[in-house]
Amino acid sequence: MSERFGGSFTQQEPIPEAGIAAALAVMRHGRLHRYNTVAGEVAETALLEEEFAAYVGAKYCLALASGGAAMACALRALQVKPGEPVLSNAFTLAPVPGAIASLGARPVFVEVTADLTIDLGHLEAQAVATGAKVLLLSHMRGHVGDMEALMALCDRLGLRVIEDCAHTMGAKWKGVASGRHGAIGCYSTQTYKHMNSGEGGLLVTDDAELAARAVLLSGSYMLFARHRAAPGTEVFEALKLEVPNVSSRMDNLRAAILRPQIGMLDDRRARWRRLYQGMERGLAGVPGVSLIPRPQAEDYVGSSFQFLLPGWEPTRVASFVAGAAARGVELKWFGAADPQGFTSRYAHWQYAAPEVLPATDRVLAGLIDMRLPLTFGLEEVGQIARILGEEVAVAASARDLAPVAAPLAD
Ligand SMILES: *Cc1c(COP(=O)(O)O)cnc(C)c1O
Repeated sequence: MSERFGGSFTQQEPIPEAGIAAALAVMRHGRLHRYNTVAGEVAETALLEEEFAAYVGAKYCLALASGGAAMACALRALQVKPGEPVLSNAFTLAPVPGAIASLGARPVFVEVTADLTIDLGHLEAQAVATGAKVLLLSHMRGHVGDMEALMALCDRLGLRVIEDCAHTMGAKWKGVASGRHGAIGCYSTQTYKHMNSGEGGLLVTDDAELAARAVLLSGSYMLFARHRAAPGTEVFEALKLEVPNVSSRMDNLRAAILRPQIGMLDDRRARWRRLYQGMERGLAGVPGVSLIPRPQAEDYVGSSFQFLLPGWEPTRVASFVAGAAARGVELKWFGAADPQGFTSRYAHWQYAAPEVLPATDRVLAGLIDMRLPLTFGLEEVGQIARILGEEVAVAASARDLAPVAAPLAD
């Protein structure tokens, strides 16, 4: 009998007791709305913003309803107009082009490299070809590119950068927190990310005007003075009648759940790294498998694991994914013909103009992706790697492959 993995790829750790206690306190007093405070009280939401700003070393922070809401808010704060092109990497997930589309702006995709980071040469070509002024850069699956080179290029091209840090909360590039290189950093606190409040988002910036616009956009009514990680009221006075309210605030209940998790991020990063490196060890040297290099400068959060099956036919990849699934190992394949679960790729987002991105197609055709929840230990990771190594060998040598729809023909 071949071994079968019995763990759950979607099981999170519980909310820390301190978060549960704080959430109960909020529910007992009933003041869940962030501006519903009694004299002398500071809302949990305002405290969360202050504490998260300190954690990443930002001047300003705003808590929002979701990571997607944070990105849309960031784009609006930069005053992106309907029809305007906004660049983004082609290897990302649906909330990223969705945030661009929510403003009526136009997503323009940039090729990804085999290291799963944005292709700087193609970024320049797309910026020049479209005249785009904004890059919504997604640190997809936690792979952070060379941020000095990227920022130098964007500065030269006059591109403002919004960082989508949904997969890099707690990560650093040369000691600088992810989200602190561009004009605005956006984070998600949705259940599958690095802090868990079910849904939620955070936005950070050092730019006073962008911060004030973001607060007003999120729906602060005229209560912006109650924010703590925000610029002085004079900055708001100049903008308060001009900026529309696009309600997307976070509430005190979620903030209460999140505050105790900020102090856990560094430890979670270390724990995730151990799981990630366990997977790397387990798959090192498996013929046909290509691992993704991780640069020294990148202090990454390994909450998911990717590897490539370069040059494999779609039927062979599909057979591998099915073989792993039959043994309890849930994989996502970015080359699949149809979007499945949380996985989709740029050709599926038909509200964006179709683009031909051969380098991205080549990478995604063989890209396998897997969650690594913190409820796994090194033993589980070792077992998963063993199963994957065996299933790679089986699929690599299989002759009678069931046909699957050609993935990249659409
Ligand atoms: C989860 C995620 C987001 C934010 O998503 P929300 O569900 O709106 O919080 C943004 N970008 C990527 C790549 C994501 O995976």
